Amino acid sequence: MNILITGGSRGIGAAAVKLFAQKGHRLWFLYEKDHEAADAVAAETGAVAICCDVADRDRVAAELGKLPPMDVLINNAGIAHYGLISQIGKEHWDRMFAVNVHGMYHCIEAVLPGMLEKQSGCIINVSSMWGQVGASCEVCYSACKGAVIAMTKALAKELGPSGIRVNCLAPGVVLTDMCKNIDPETMDWLKEDTPLGRHGLPEDMARAMVYLAEADFLTGQVLPLNGGMVI
Ligand code: NAD
Repeated sequence: MNILITGGSRGIGAAAVKLFAQKGHRLWFLYEKDHEAADAVAAETGAVAICCDVADRDRVAAELGKLPPMDVLINNAGIAHYGLISQIGKEHWDRMFAVNVHGMYHCIEAVLPGMLEKQSGCIINVSSMWGQVGASCEVCYSACKGAVIAMTKALAKELGPSGIRVNCLAPGVVLTDMCKNIDPETMDWLKEDTPLGRHGLPEDMARAMVYLAEADFLTGQVLPLNGGMVI
């Protein structure tokens, strides 16, 4: 299959690029700025790395317009910001929505014509458990990830008749660079609150993405990969 993954240079996206590549698929991934990390993932997997800000609609259209039709799009790129709503500021607020929500729209918009022509395709959006239940000090992030869930369900209804499945992953805490700024006490507290007693790994998320890519009769669903933290 032809698979496009956004945010493939590290963390969950990089684990997904590696696992899908091991399974023999052809991969392209977008990343924001870490050329060295992206080159390393590309060299290890044979995937094509493309430096492209998903928030830039014209750039996404130009870059994805050069690619062959995709069978699977994984909208994984995302950014987080921790702080009170009174402290986040308009610039950060807008950037979070531009990357986490508008970025998904831009990528979907770019790959959809190819999927519609084939009358088949699979879109996997990465949300968060905070998009399901909300997190204090992550109001904007929770709002973005809630939007991703609503977008997934609406798109599944709209695109199902065209043979295109749309599902969503809602991870709990996953050990990636995104969690680096969370203090160790909070990380421990989050682990204690997780029935399975550990944090998620990028590889846990990648395996679930493979499942979503292969599950032919599944659409419009939110897969909660959180170790039981949100049930
Ligand atoms: P990460 O920070 O380790 O990696 C983010 C990736 O996205 C990088 O490859 C980066 O280059 C890319 N990216 C960021 N902004 C971009 C942009 N504007 N354009 C293109 N690429 C961009 O993050 P992660 O933990 O691997 O998170 C991946 C996804 O999982 C995100 O959507 C995140 O919100 C979600 N998520 C993560 C956790 C967690 O605990 N790590 C929990 C729930 C959901």
